[in-house]
Amino acid sequence: MNQSLTLALSKGRIFDETLPLLEAAGITVSDDPEQSRKLILPTSDPVIRVVIVRASDVPTYVQYGAADFGVAGKDVLLEHGGEGLYQPVDLNIAKCRMSVAVSAGFDYASAVRQGARLRVATKYVNVAREHFAAKGVHVDLIKLYGSMELGPLVGLSDAIVDLVSTGSTLRANHLVEVEQIMDISSRLVVNRAALKTKREKLQPIIEAFERAASLKQ
Ligand code: ATP
Ligand code: MG
Repeated sequence: MNQSLTLALSKGRIFDETLPLLEAAGITVSDDPEQSRKLILPTSDPVIRVVIVRASDVPTYVQYGAADFGVAGKDVLLEHGGEGLYQPVDLNIAKCRMSVAVSAGFDYASAVRQGARLRVATKYVNVAREHFAAKGVHVDLIKLYGSMELGPLVGLSDAIVDLVSTGSTLRANHLVEVEQIMDISSRLVVNRAALKTKREKLQPIIEAFERAASLKQ
């Protein structure tokens, strides 16, 4: 049986914060994806390799089995829907929150109270739709792929739904966080078929990740 494993990671915080978890499982990656242009990185374990993909593409690679496992933010998993994915571990990395923010001068509370129809720009249309529907707030959602902070500044939208960690990006753009929707962290996701056929090789890695993640709580 082929027990070689492919792990899908995105560059940046997820790659950086997954490295110590891999090390806890006895796996080291010597290439730095910020330096090299390689998309497939070998590891110290000859049967394990890392593929570097866009953060929002991680669930797709794992769903179709092009990667056996991967690390993806809860934000990305909620938008993807999580079909075909087993999510055994909250890794407690890349922590932030998903929030509603508006221009400093915009009275969000009274707009909501008056039943105004709000224009909301976001990359996270599924989460945003559910959030506002649950509150009974009428919204027109405007799908963006990045730089949501710009939306209210140029009159594209009244509000944004975006990820916030320190709040410094919001402050730098004169935006105010008015509602926290949910806490976000990254999860280990495993292809359902691989979990069965490659259990012998995967299980010890999942357990090592679990132990290392629980120490981070
Ligand atoms: P891309 O840069 O390819 O458009 P991205 O912006 O989603 O994708 P990252 O910025 O690396 O990629 O974010 C990856 C994941 O890290 C997100 O899906 C989210 O779960 C988490 N994340 C995003 N922003 C923050 C933040 N400010 N602090 C902590 N975690 C964050
Ligand atoms: Mg980003």
